[in-house]
Amino acid sequence: MKFLYSGPVFEMARQQFDVIADHLGIAEDERDRLLLPKRAIVVSCPIHMDDGRTRVFAGYRVQHHLTLGPAKGGTRFAANVDIGEIAALAVWMSWKCALAELPYGGAKGGVTVDPRTLSVRELENLSRRYMQEMIPFVGPRVDVMAPDMGTNEQVMAWFMDTYSMYQGVTVPEIVTGKPVGTGGTLGRREATGHGVAFLAFRAMEALAIDPVGATAIVQGFGNVGMHAVLGLAARGVKIVGVSDHTAAYWDPKGIVARDLVNHVTRVGALSGFSTEAAIDAQTLLEQPCDVLAPCAVERVIDADVARRLRCRILAEGANGPTTPEADKVLAERNDGVFVIPDILCNAGGVIVSYFEWVQDLQQYFWSRDEVMDRLERALDRSWTMVIARAKRDGVANRTAAMAIGVERVMKAKQARGLFP
Ligand code: NAD
Repeated sequence: MKFLYSGPVFEMARQQFDVIADHLGIAEDERDRLLLPKRAIVVSCPIHMDDGRTRVFAGYRVQHHLTLGPAKGGTRFAANVDIGEIAALAVWMSWKCALAELPYGGAKGGVTVDPRTLSVRELENLSRRYMQEMIPFVGPRVDVMAPDMGTNEQVMAWFMDTYSMYQGVTVPEIVTGKPVGTGGTLGRREATGHGVAFLAFRAMEALAIDPVGATAIVQGFGNVGMHAVLGLAARGVKIVGVSDHTAAYWDPKGIVARDLVNHVTRVGALSGFSTEAAIDAQTLLEQPCDVLAPCAVERVIDADVARRLRCRILAEGANGPTTPEADKVLAERNDGVFVIPDILCNAGGVIVSYFEWVQDLQQYFWSRDEVMDRLERALDRSWTMVIARAKRDGVANRTAAMAIGVERVMKAKQARGLFP
């Protein structure tokens, strides 16, 4: 069973879990039940390409547990997606949802494809076929999908439409992160990045850093990175570095956030934004700043990078950006990088997804202010719990956050017992 979920990303999720299981003193025979996913679905998605050929793409969905309610998690379209990575992301979703006290288990899905190589029609074909293959395994009370890397509101609208056509009725609550006009919620688009910025401000407050004139570097300029940049800049933080998969820029004088957004909206990526500010993408992470926010892919901060980081706050917008080896380095450094761990830092997305699901189920929609206010209160609650727990137990913020999440899932499983 364990070997099905192989690869460096699942290994990382397992190592992190082992730390927590030791910390909480979880019995050996309870550990597999908590860590290993309830089920994994692998499908072949054949589609017609524009040139008349048929191509088959591999699709995955991993549901980690359904102990607290439906499974919940994004769907990733990326060239290197495999079952181990998807399983790891599903496991992290479980601890994240539990930390935020949402009535969900964790899930994640994906298709091994670089969506940038597809035409719009091919992307629609693939999105619809993927959802069609998943219909027997998902549902508003079973597993609720959302966007992740390489997918967006449009893909969610196709997912929702495909599922609804098979049911014969409109079922908006089958996915979250939809366009507002089709049952999506106000505030979902910016929720994750807004949450990253909101928690970075909490950390600045704790470290007595004035946001006005403080500096930030953001890796990744997609949904999360872009809104993190906008959220930070809105309160006076100077954006001194940004990167995406095409380019990296560093300018100690500051880069205007709106100019970045306008460029990416026009061109589709950061490439071509500037010639003077160009910097090597890896070197960017190691420049001095108050806030470093990795908002792209996993494992970008390994032990070597961790030794060279010159940020004061590491705000993890991405899932799994920091390896367990890097965590050890950060814990040993006596100049103290303050880590806002991913399951806390990027929880804004799933919290507002939960609000969207609730609104869809009730067919009663909230104002943007209501959404953002509830989001900030939810993040504040988690933040306070994590900081208090880290202090009480003398552990890293990541250990504290994961311990709260794992403990909640474990207690629910223990209370429900083992069937039959
Ligand atoms: P996205 O597809 O909208 O954007 C991804 C961005 O990362 C793009 O700008 C891309 O160019 C960049 N990128 C990819 N590889 C890179 C690399 N090696 N170096 C620098 N930049 C690179 O994806 P997203 O939704 O913004 O998700 C980003 C991360 O945040 C992922 O780890 C995802 O799991 C996590 N996350 C997303 C949400 C959400 O609501 N979208 C919620 C929680 C966590």
